[in-house]
Formats: sequence, C-alpha cells, structure tokens
Amino acid sequence: MNPHPPDTESAQPPKIECSNVTVSFSDHQSVLRDLSFVVEPGRIVSLLGPSGCGKSTLLRCLAGLQSLQNGSIFIGGQSPTMARPKMSYVFQDAGLLPWRNILDNVGLPLELEGTPTSIRRERSESSLHSVGLAHEHFRKYPSQLSGGMKMRASIARALVKDPLLMLMDEPFAALDDMLRSRLNELLLGLHRRRTRTIVFVTHNIAEAVFLSHHVAMLINGKIVREVDVPFAQPRTSELRSDPAFVQLCGEIARSFAELAETTDQMEVV
Ligand code: ADP
Ligand code: MG
Repeated sequence: MNPHPPDTESAQPPKIECSNVTVSFSDHQSVLRDLSFVVEPGRIVSLLGPSGCGKSTLLRCLAGLQSLQNGSIFIGGQSPTMARPKMSYVFQDAGLLPWRNILDNVGLPLELEGTPTSIRRERSESSLHSVGLAHEHFRKYPSQLSGGMKMRASIARALVKDPLLMLMDEPFAALDDMLRSRLNELLLGLHRRRTRTIVFVTHNIAEAVFLSHHVAMLINGKIVREVDVPFAQPRTSELRSDPAFVQLCGEIARSFAELAETTDQMEVV
C-alpha cells in the first residue's frame, strides 16, 4: 500500500521521496546503488557529480522513464508515472523542431493536449516573455536563434503547462560561462515568481551552489554527501565573488577529491 497520501492541494509543488533506489542495466554493476534522498516541496536541489555517476539515470527514474530493480520513488505521494502531468523536463539539447517557429515550438505541449489556438498563443507568448525572449523572435525558426535564445525557448516550452516540478539535465552545459550565469539568474527569477520543485543536474560545482537550496553529491551511483546551501535569496551575480561562496565551492571540490579517491572516476569542473 502507498504509505504517502497524494497531495490534497494539487497546485502545490511536490515533495520527492526516493528510498533505496537501485538500478542496473543487464548484468552491468548497479548504476544507482541503494540511493535515498528527499527533496522538500518548492526547493531547488542539484544532483552534482562527475560524468557517468548516474545523474541522468536518476532523473529518468524521477520522470518515470526508467524502472527500478529495487526501492521506491514518490512524487507528491504518487508514482512518477502518475505524477508525470505535473512535471516537465529540460535537456542540454534545446530539442526544438527545426520546421516550426519558436511560438509553435513552445505551444507544442498544449497543441498535443488539444488546447484551443487562441489560448495556446496567449500562454506561449506569456511563457516566452517570462524567459526574456523579445517578441521579434517569436516567428523565427530555431536555426535563426543563438544557443542561449534556443535554451530560453526550450525553458519556455517546459513552462507552458505551468509544471509544479521541473527536471533539468545539464541544461546550460553547452553554453559559455557568461550565458550560463545569466540563465542561472533567469532560473532563480522564475522560481521567485512561481515556486516549483526543481531537480537540477550538473557537473559544475559553482552552478550547483549558486542555484540550489541543497546539493546532493553523487559518485558511482551513490549519494556520498548532502550540503545545505546557506545563502539567502534573492541571489545575484555578486554572490559568485563572495568569499563564503568561493569557500563553499572549494570545500565541495575537496570533498569530491577525497571521496573519489576510492573510485576510478573523477573530472568535476
Ligand atoms: P551521468 O548522467 O551522471 O553522466 P548516466 O546516468 O548517464 O550518468 O550513466 C551512468 C552509467 O550508466 C554510465 O556508466 C552509463 O554508461 C550507464 N548507462 C546509462 N544508461 C544506460 C543504458 N540504457 N544501458 C546501459 N548502460 C547505461
Ligand atoms: Mg547525464
């Protein structure tokens, strides 16, 4: 029996509860090993770890796209599959359809649900405005936009159904540092205006610390350490040069180096 009653107020951002999650691919050693963690409602939590440690696999589990060998996941008291209408997914690749203009790309999730054209247009425009894309770009095609604009459009598409949970898999990893910083600030601004639960995957320590209330460090399919990030909101770009921020990033880097000594994987930037 499900010990977690579903959220009574469905418009609240969900809590995520993972218990003893284990995932293996065939007879490969387990990719996720007895992993337990909780994300409180409305929090931004980063899954931080080196390439290949299982971050994307864990995110796919949260989205109900990957079955578990053992353990359980509840999202607002529901199974991930049942909770899927509440969530949206953002990948590193903006994944826009090249033959559709930006407005029609952003409106696609609504179109698939049969939302009437006028409502779809209004919500898509509002979503594009919220990510800072100017009206002049709405009728352009993806090939006519820069990488940063494409990512803004991808986030707008993820927001168009007003999800309560966002799963983001290294969305800014392909962007240059300045653009990445600007989009980090955009994401925090969006979260201030509308509180959602966000699980953000990254291998960049400064990005994880800047964005998150809480950081879960992964190595080799296990959460090896969890860190509460103490900095108050709103966080602005000045935080990046604050000695306390720099110190926390350094401490996490050292912690990875120590904890990874027992594994054969490293390369956290
Ligand atoms: P990360 O996102 O942290 O880079 P992944 O979750 O993508 O890591 O992958 C973790 C490990 O699981 C890697 O060793 C990867 O090769 C393996 N893996 C991921 N998906 C599959 C799959 N569908 N079949 C077999 N192995 C996989
Ligand atoms: Mg990955």
